[in-house]
Amino acid sequence: MTAAALPTASGPADRRLVRYVRRTVYPYSAYYRALLDGLGGGPRVDLALLPPTDLSLVGDPGRLVLRPDFGTIVRRGRRPLAAQALGSKATGSMRSFNRRLEHEFKPVHWVLADGLPLGYSIADLHRLAGFGAEWLTRAGVGPRDVLVNLVQAGPSVGYWELVLGARRAGVSAIGLTDAEPGLVERLVPSVIAGEAAQLVATLTAARGEGHRLAGLQTLLVVGDPLATSVRRQLQSVSNGAAVVAAWGPAGTRAVWSECRAGSEQFEPSGYHVGDADIVEAAGDGAELLWSGVGWRGSVVVRLRTFTTASLQRGTCPACGQPGLRVLPLTPLPRTTPSAVAPPAAGVDPPRVFAPPPAVSDRPKPEPDAAPSSID
Ligand SMILES: [Zn+2]
Repeated sequence: MTAAALPTASGPADRRLVRYVRRTVYPYSAYYRALLDGLGGGPRVDLALLPPTDLSLVGDPGRLVLRPDFGTIVRRGRRPLAAQALGSKATGSMRSFNRRLEHEFKPVHWVLADGLPLGYSIADLHRLAGFGAEWLTRAGVGPRDVLVNLVQAGPSVGYWELVLGARRAGVSAIGLTDAEPGLVERLVPSVIAGEAAQLVATLTAARGEGHRLAGLQTLLVVGDPLATSVRRQLQSVSNGAAVVAAWGPAGTRAVWSECRAGSEQFEPSGYHVGDADIVEAAGDGAELLWSGVGWRGSVVVRLRTFTTASLQRGTCPACGQPGLRVLPLTPLPRTTPSAVAPPAAGVDPPRVFAPPPAVSDRPKPEPDAAPSSID
């Protein structure tokens, strides 16, 4: 991958992203601080110049983790947080402030994206649960449903968002590692979630063995963008259940999901993205880039998704909800080494787990950490 082949921005950066980068990403992420400093403008650089992030080239995942310390918070952080830090110091309640900081920033849960560990803080997990509940609601799944979750248990965003979202939404759910059709039938699910190929295999086997799954109303398909032919196949083997898909490029912090009404249209209306998702089409091939504002733990900005997409803004014609929808078009070839390959020369070797965060309640010996230097 040469610099010339990197996608470039098509317009001014979103103001939310600008604020997030200036007040949270630049101060606390070693990876992006080095990139922005290298561009010569530090936190105020035009984000259109920020090279898109290819996770397979990041190297050390610990450099993506946000690591606030007292001095940096006071000098460069969001003003409310800086004020809290100073107030806590003045009143001798730094222990309480540090607990709050850990809750917000310290990664305690990890997923793998393209082989790279990405951390979620406690606050992130609450947020992920909220997005998961929205996903289920959008798919027409609620507290009266019984969900059999066949998504492979492991360090994936889709699995954990579904588990946490079902709990948040009050949906009765059970995860199975072995999709034995007789067992699935005995659980009388109204919803089955899984990857597309796995759902086709399970439902085909169930039909072949005479299991009717009479209460089945919804299939939640988690994984790659759902091809029309596979959607038709799933509708057929499920006796007409609604087939509602969710997908997120590797590195997005929550999946994007179809609405139930949109999934049943002849031309599906696309994947709804969250309010905190900022997507842009960049470069000649209109590669989709993603940034998620507000996340803590590990941070990813202008993520390369290796797909082109059509971006639909405004009200969804199917469900009537406002917001942005993504219709994935063409996967782009990965011209860079995969994350599992040895890193390129000069790139730090990846570690399986990033080190624990260095959230500190003690100021670094910064000479300019005085209140007057709050920016
Ligand atoms: Zn919709």
